[in-house]
Amino acid sequence: MTETVECVVIGAGVVGLAIARALAMAGREVIVLEAEDAIGTATSSRNSEVIHAGIYYPEGSLKARLCRAGRDQLYQYLNEHGIDYARCGKLVVATIDAELEPLRAVESRARGNGVEDIRWIGADEAIGLEPHLTCIAALISPSTGILDSHAYMLSLQGEAEDHGAAIAFLCPVLGGRAERGTITLDVGGDQPMELACRTVVNCAGLGAQGVARSIQGMPPETVPPLHYAKGNYFHLSGRAPFERLIYPVPGAAGLGIHYTRDLGGQGRFGPDVEWIDAIDYQVEPSRADSFYAAIRRYWPALPDDALTPDYCGVRPKLQAPGEPAADFMFQGPETHGINGLINLFGIESPGLTASLAIADAVVEQFGLAKPLR
Ligand SMILES: Cc1cc2nc3c(=O)[nH]c(=O)nc-3n(C[C@H](O)[C@H](O)[C@H](O)COP(=O)(O)OP(=O)(O)OC[C@H]3O[C@@H](n4cnc5c(N)ncnc54)[C@H](O)[C@@H]3O)c2cc1C
Repeated sequence: MTETVECVVIGAGVVGLAIARALAMAGREVIVLEAEDAIGTATSSRNSEVIHAGIYYPEGSLKARLCRAGRDQLYQYLNEHGIDYARCGKLVVATIDAELEPLRAVESRARGNGVEDIRWIGADEAIGLEPHLTCIAALISPSTGILDSHAYMLSLQGEAEDHGAAIAFLCPVLGGRAERGTITLDVGGDQPMELACRTVVNCAGLGAQGVARSIQGMPPETVPPLHYAKGNYFHLSGRAPFERLIYPVPGAAGLGIHYTRDLGGQGRFGPDVEWIDAIDYQVEPSRADSFYAAIRRYWPALPDDALTPDYCGVRPKLQAPGEPAADFMFQGPETHGINGLINLFGIESPGLTASLAIADAVVEQFGLAKPLR
């Protein structure tokens, strides 16, 4: 049987939910197809839950623009909807002379991105703020925070549903075809069906390339490569040592093994960067060795045996190891030629922070708020 609907969003992670909400609030008929049995079970629940200020990304990139805008939208949203968060701030620290120049580069990039409240501080001020810290200089970012990301996703889901969107769980998209302005999706699950629609927004995260390739007529050369960069976390037993989040100077593929905490005050460290060939969510205990070494550069008093394997997430990288960092990619008919199909690729960090701004940008860029007729 073929059902019809105006818009389909594939994937009920934080980005798919934000886009479904935006489409539903713009008066669109929306179904979200989610392969799993709940919202946000993939990367959206396997991250640091940090509201990034917008410090790191190349000036003018989508990541820079949408992180900066999304952060402000997110704080406002969390306030208005009574969702738990803490604007706790963070320190990015240099621990040796060789890190001072890279830290200055982070500062100027942040300013270029419009992060005006970032400030260079000396070791005395940094250690005055965080007495357990060791560093020779730091950047303080007051507008960094943490949030209850699950409550945020539940709120997005609730608002999308209040505006008429429906979320269909256990409904994996297996393939599709495009004919005469209609995209017909093959949906699996207990009751397989065909779903015909005018607009498909592919927000399948780590599955986005697979979904795109499964749609007949999609030129394979327009689907970007996908590389998995796993990020492991270790849980800290005992008292949390810091009030603010503590980050080292960033590395090539990640922000460095940083200290963060949840809203209950439980500390954890991560994520590292482990390039993998296939997705697995096991945290290898032996990786703790490199964590102790990295953390003790800024927290020498980290006790032996204080770290235990926690959880991990997998970054959907568009670049291979050693290649320059790629931006978010929003791809429409001008690239692949299929009317109504919009693919979102490479939505790694800061995708949680930027989610509301990503939704606005996608709706605007592809004219999804205008009447279709
Ligand atoms: C280690 C790590 C740390 C991070 N830390 C932060 C942070 O602190 N702050 C921040 O802003 N960002 C952070 N991020 C990034 C952020 O988590 C992601 O950008 C965001 O969660 C992406 O959301 P999404 O909806 O695009 O993808 P996902 O959450 O992966 O959702 C995709 C959904 O699509 C579904 N799906 C897949 N295939 C199909 C199919 N064929 N049919 C139907 N459904 C399908 C999946 O089941 C899933 O529910 C981090 C990411 C990682 C990996």
